[in-house]
Amino acid sequence: MQYDAGILIFRMNKGGPEFLFLNRKEGWLDITKGHIEDKEDKVRAALRETKEESGLDASGSIDPYFSCTIYYKIKSAAGEFIKELTVFIAEASATASITLSNEHVGFSWLSYAEAMEKIKRGWQIDMLQCAYQYISRRARMAELNSEYATLPSSIKPWDLSARFVPGEGPVDADVMFVGQAPGAQEDATGRPFIGQSGQLLSNLIRSAGLERKDTYITSVVQFFPPANRIPSDGEIRACRDFLYKQIEIVRPKLVVLLGAVAAKEVLGIKGISTARGRVIEKGGIKYFLSLHPAAAVRVKSNMPKIEADFKVLGSLVEEMGIKAGMRAKRSNYGKLKEGKLEEFS
Ligand code: URA
Repeated sequence: MQYDAGILIFRMNKGGPEFLFLNRKEGWLDITKGHIEDKEDKVRAALRETKEESGLDASGSIDPYFSCTIYYKIKSAAGEFIKELTVFIAEASATASITLSNEHVGFSWLSYAEAMEKIKRGWQIDMLQCAYQYISRRARMAELNSEYATLPSSIKPWDLSARFVPGEGPVDADVMFVGQAPGAQEDATGRPFIGQSGQLLSNLIRSAGLERKDTYITSVVQFFPPANRIPSDGEIRACRDFLYKQIEIVRPKLVVLLGAVAAKEVLGIKGISTARGRVIEKGGIKYFLSLHPAAAVRVKSNMPKIEADFKVLGSLVEEMGIKAGMRAKRSNYGKLKEGKLEEFS
């Protein structure tokens, strides 16, 4: 097996994303990619190859949640090998300038349709489809975020913080967590669940067999209620569409409602203590009810209860076939089974 890593660089324009393809001397189109050197991890290798082959520094723009892994056969004088290629995505600015290495003889920015017409290799088609679907959802989420970030200026009086705390995580996550509202630390940083409750949530997610980076994390209300008060009905109403639009974009297999505010808003359930640990389906979406991590941070006797909720969640996730890191293996091209490459699907 040989291991390669690369980045599909894209830039956004009004008609959608355009992808960077490099012209190989042999006459076919490639992305920036190459061998993973000794002691290098995949991300470092992909960034290095991209820098060498295009002059672009993608270290600040590589998407932390997307990768696809592809297996394909190559033939060389030394014989036939299976390659494992891991592809990341990174957005370049509209004005990014490309400096080619002597490995390539030209480059072009191609729309999805143009690229699908021009690229010939099966693995590239599979990779492009995977990346395009993800980038399209990412763009919809970015548009939604920029629309809701201005909510405080359109509603008077506005008693919540003016700082918008968007959801965080892969925009195609299988599991989404919905909390109540950001706390002071989330307000200070603009990121959800990063205070004490957030630390506990990350540990609980791990206890359920997943990693935080596999899940999408958001709240019913995206603005900090001063003194950590419970958001009012009016405030929840103002943020309502945002939550449901996020669910629509991510289309998770399971939404975990953390605490009473989320349970009441989404399912109309009053009081989480009797409803926790249950799965309820509504509108074609599966919801799981749990205590909110803040309840266990505040009241120690709630800790075994929330641990029990996440134990049930762990079984549920397993039953549903959701696994940590599974999203990374999203490419269908060349399935590897017991070290052998199966034909492409
Ligand atoms: N509690 C929540 O409900 N949401 C956050 O983002 C942080 C803490």
